[in-house]
Formats: sequence, C-alpha cells, structure tokens
Amino acid sequence: YDDRDGKIWMDGDLVDWRDAKVHILTHAMHYASSVFEGERCYDGKIFKGHEHSLRLIESGRLLDMPIPYSAEEIDAAKEAVLKANGFENAYVRVVAWRGSGLDMGVSAARNPVRMAVAAWEWGSYYGDAKWQGAKLDVAKWKRPSPETIPTAAKAAGLYMICTMSKHAAEAKGCSDALFMDWEGYVAEATGANIFFVKDGEVHTPLADRFLNGITRQTIVQMLKDKGYTVHERRITPDELEGFQECWLTGTAAEVTPVGQIGDWHFQVGQITRDVAESYEALVRA
Ligand code: PMP
Repeated sequence: YDDRDGKIWMDGDLVDWRDAKVHILTHAMHYASSVFEGERCYDGKIFKGHEHSLRLIESGRLLDMPIPYSAEEIDAAKEAVLKANGFENAYVRVVAWRGSGLDMGVSAARNPVRMAVAAWEWGSYYGDAKWQGAKLDVAKWKRPSPETIPTAAKAAGLYMICTMSKHAAEAKGCSDALFMDWEGYVAEATGANIFFVKDGEVHTPLADRFLNGITRQTIVQMLKDKGYTVHERRITPDELEGFQECWLTGTAAEVTPVGQIGDWHFQVGQITRDVAESYEALVRA
C-alpha cells in the first residue's frame, strides 16, 4: 500500500502518498499508542462520517492521548483526501498516534499526538462469496475485560489478538474468527459485530465490553424501525446451535451473512437478506 500515486493528509498538509512516513522511534510503534477509524464513502458521501470523527476523539481521550483536532477539522481532512484523490467510493482510514519527540519510554505525555488520513478504493471485505455465507473460526483468544483495557476505544492495541486470530482462521480456510469475551460469552469478530436470528427475533451481544460498532447501532435501529424484536443481551456459545441465521456488521464488512461458525451452521435467510439490502440502500440514500 505504500508505493503508489496519490495524496495522504498528515498533520495538516496533503503530502505525496510515498512520503507519508514516520520515524522508527515513533512512540506508537513501540507502545501501541494509536487509535484509528475505518469509514466508507459512498457516492461522494462518508456514511456517518461525523460519528466516526467523534469516536476517534473519544478513543484518544480514553487512551490519555488528546486528539489535537476538532471533529469538524477531522471531517474536513477526510473531505480533502477524497477530493485530492478523486474518490467517490472509497474506504477512509484516519489514524492518530503518539509521535517521536522528547521521550522514548512508556511515558509519552511530551510527545506530540499526530494524525493522518488516507483513502483507497476497497471492495467487499470478505470477497465475492458474500451471499454464500462466511465461514468463521472460533478464536482461541478472548476479548479482554473493560478493567484490563479501554474496550470502547478503537485502539491499535486491541487488534493484536485480532490479527493472530484472523491468521489462524485463514489457515483453516475461514474468512474470520469469532471471539468470546473473558467471561465466555459471545462477543464479536476481529473487525465486525455479530447478530443472530431465532424464530424471527434478533439477538446480538450487549456491546458494553467491546466496540459498539456504528454499523451495529445503525442496524439495531433499522431492525426496530422495521418492527423486529431485538434482544441485546449476553449470549452463551451453546446457544449458537439454536440460531437459524447469523450476520456480521461493520464499516468494512457492511452486512455479511455467516454460514458457519466452527461446527454450527446457519442459513442465509430472509431477515439477513432484508437487513443487508436495506443497509445497502441506506448508505447510498
Ligand atoms: N468490532 C471491531 C473489533 C472492529 O474493528 C469493527 C470495525 N470498526 C467493528 C466491531 C464494527 O465497527 P463499525 O461498525 O463502527 O465499523
């Protein structure tokens, strides 16, 4: 991704794509002092762009890493990147981190918080097999407790076990992995939230211990508006057997039907189709 034409916004300026570099003694490289956002621009408009800017600021606050820009300034930086690259339909990545500076140790209060925005054209997150239903592995790692790490932040450090679990899943021919939380309840995938259907009603894990995705919140509201009963609650792994449909939600994943998790199978059913199609229409509305 580093060797191409284009522009990336860095600390207030648009720089050439190839020149968007940081020093090796960047604090974030050593101590994971980094928060980010993933957003999608559809037909020239970022879906929930302002909500993502606000979440980035909140993630920075949670990591004691105040972002030196307002949500409006972050919105403007994203617009500038899309315009400079001529993108109408793209994935947008905003990242903020502790740079190099006066300190090179755990303490970093005197190192500047920096920010960059890049965008690129990105298709379906799980490839073309979307409607066949994704196959998920069960991760061996558990989502951590909110007493261990600020789980509401979209912080780089929370993704270490995501990368490891996704590699393990891919090695088994799966496209993603499902995490349980530290107490054993169903949590989320490596970059997406999860929903289930049983007897016409929707069940999704209560998002008080992992990222409460902007897509997840959108879908919960959409389901309620459509008149579905939505249960946000603790879900145990032995309940998976009784669910008929399953899908993932996320900015990148959008609404992705799930056909299998470990040995449990699901149909790509009517409610999954309804939600996926309504989401597609909504993001371009
Ligand atoms: N959980 C994790 C771990 C994620 O990385 C993402 C993607 N940002 C999500 C859930 C879904 O969040 P959103 O709908 O805001 O993209």
